[in-house]
Amino acid sequence: MIIAIDGPAGSGKSSTAKAVAARLGITYLDTGAMYRAVTLKAQRLKIRYDDDTALGIIMAHTTIAFEGLPPDVRVIMDGDDVSADIRSDAVTKSVSDYCARDVVRKFLVEQQRQAAQGRSVVCEGRDIGTVVFPDADVKIFMVASVEERARRRQKDFAAMGVSKSVEELIKDIEARDHKDSTRANSPLTKAGGAIEMDTTGMTLEDQIMFIVNKVKT
Ligand code: C5P
Repeated sequence: MIIAIDGPAGSGKSSTAKAVAARLGITYLDTGAMYRAVTLKAQRLKIRYDDDTALGIIMAHTTIAFEGLPPDVRVIMDGDDVSADIRSDAVTKSVSDYCARDVVRKFLVEQQRQAAQGRSVVCEGRDIGTVVFPDADVKIFMVASVEERARRRQKDFAAMGVSKSVEELIKDIEARDHKDSTRANSPLTKAGGAIEMDTTGMTLEDQIMFIVNKVKT
């Protein structure tokens, strides 16, 4: 069984997807973490987002794995735990540029499909219901108001000891949404057959049960 969850930044995908996976006892696959890991590696190696040749080389020499069970899933790149580093401001601001490159997407989409081979997964991202798993059993498209999404991000940053204004976060989120929805390759869009879920006024428990009930019906 495949549950595909797509939606813009801060719509509630990660916390909900992790909890649904834990509740159903199935695998959680965070595709955004994979794009973030590649972005981190490229930045460390000083490779520009538009240097497709260099990106192609690093893609072929990068391993990305997940360890642990949700909610505590660690992201391991080339053997190192990069779970914290991939959430940095520098990575968050550039990931949409790196992930728009065909060479990056081709490689990671293939890995995502392999990771789901023969097992049930909850997979979250931007193109899961449209491109990665168009035949998913349940497709969810999560949305929320930009103000609410910025407030959620503010809390995430506060937990990392970083203080940011809601206004600044709204600008960052809108810039990332724009890039993610207007790129040529696999833009963020609601998949055919996806159920739209507005999480603005919903609790986490509401969100989890909404999806669990879709699986059961
Ligand atoms: O989900 P998260 O916010 O961590 O994703 C980071 C970025 O990775 C997104 O803004 C988007 O640019 C990219 N992404 C993507 N396709 C996916 C998942 C994430 O392009 N399936």
